[in-house]
Amino acid sequence: MNKGLLFVISGPSGAGKGTIYAQIIAKTDMKRSVSVTTRKPREGEVEGVNYFFRTEEQYQQMIAAGEFLETAEVYHNLYGTPKAPVFENLKNGYNVLFEVDVHGVKSIKKKYPEAVAIFVMTPDFKTLEARLRARGSETEDSLKTRLGAARRELSEYKLFDYIVFNDEIEPAIEEVLDIITAEKRRIKNNEERIKALLKEEE
Ligand code: 5GP
Repeated sequence: MNKGLLFVISGPSGAGKGTIYAQIIAKTDMKRSVSVTTRKPREGEVEGVNYFFRTEEQYQQMIAAGEFLETAEVYHNLYGTPKAPVFENLKNGYNVLFEVDVHGVKSIKKKYPEAVAIFVMTPDFKTLEARLRARGSETEDSLKTRLGAARRELSEYKLFDYIVFNDEIEPAIEEVLDIITAEKRRIKNNEERIKALLKEEE
């Protein structure tokens, strides 16, 4: 059996990465990773489904115990990807998909260079601003912060293997699915299967 592949989706807040991520998890048999966070649950969020919600102290203990593949502070809260379930899934041949911020991508690439990183962006910054405004939850200040962060995130483009411009959501989801298929079909990701074929009786 081939080892599973690790995909990471990232991009600025408002670009649609969360929607794309959720749709791909729903449409494929890829395994997701449930992150740990110190952020308080939002209405409707479920422990173990959206996140594992932990106190700052519990989180620090997990860091000390080396339980994270990566951890980052995003807008004053800590977020991290637990290591063990990811490696277990990859070992068992499952493809894994994460959604993390750009710092998370950097740490994952450092620890696991084979990870395939996909950046989700709007066609331009004007559209990003319009989408953030349409959410209605941003103050002028937090809007400015997010737009500034978006520029800094995009300037880290060299970390990424692919970029998807999310103009309309359905084609953007299709593009991410195409990227996943292309990666699965790489010769280097199929060597064991090919060798097994070659060993079959003529
Ligand atoms: P939210 O609080 O809206 O659920 O997430 C805020 C940000 O944290 C998003 O940009 C999301 O991508 C990022 N995030 C969620 N989980 C993780 C994680 O495990 N690691 C990192 N580095 N970022 C995460």
